[in-house]
Amino acid sequence: MISAVDREIRLGIWKIHILHHAASRPVWGRWLLEELAEHGHVLSPGTLYPALLRMEVNGWLERTGDAAHARARQSFRITAAGRQLLEALRREVHELHQEVVLGRASRHPPDAPRPAAPRPPRPRGRPAPAPSARKRRP
Ligand SMILES: [Zn+2]
Repeated sequence: MISAVDREIRLGIWKIHILHHAASRPVWGRWLLEELAEHGHVLSPGTLYPALLRMEVNGWLERTGDAAHARARQSFRITAAGRQLLEALRREVHELHQEVVLGRASRHPPDAPRPAAPRPPRPRGRPAPAPSARKRRP
């Protein structure tokens, strides 16, 4: 049984795993439950299906829906946006693995000089600017 605290962190890992498989072929609920269980993650359908729906709503997965039988209608494949996300996540997972699993030093150890000076504290009561208000770089 997975606790709510475990699920909070693992949900992201499961979604990366789902994107990974959906990138090579359509996936569906039962297959994903078995695949994740093989990796030691025993999810209930009540955890998996809402996650798949969220991934569909976010535009990372889409239903194949291109065949008459029910399984095809319930199958998901990765979208272009999902593929882009997966590429970025691969880099992040790699970096996390380097640091968390292999114990290689972070590029910014806490006692090393920071690349930029810390900002002065923001005056109380003034909201931080929204992330969308920041200048974007290509
Ligand atoms: Zn797998």
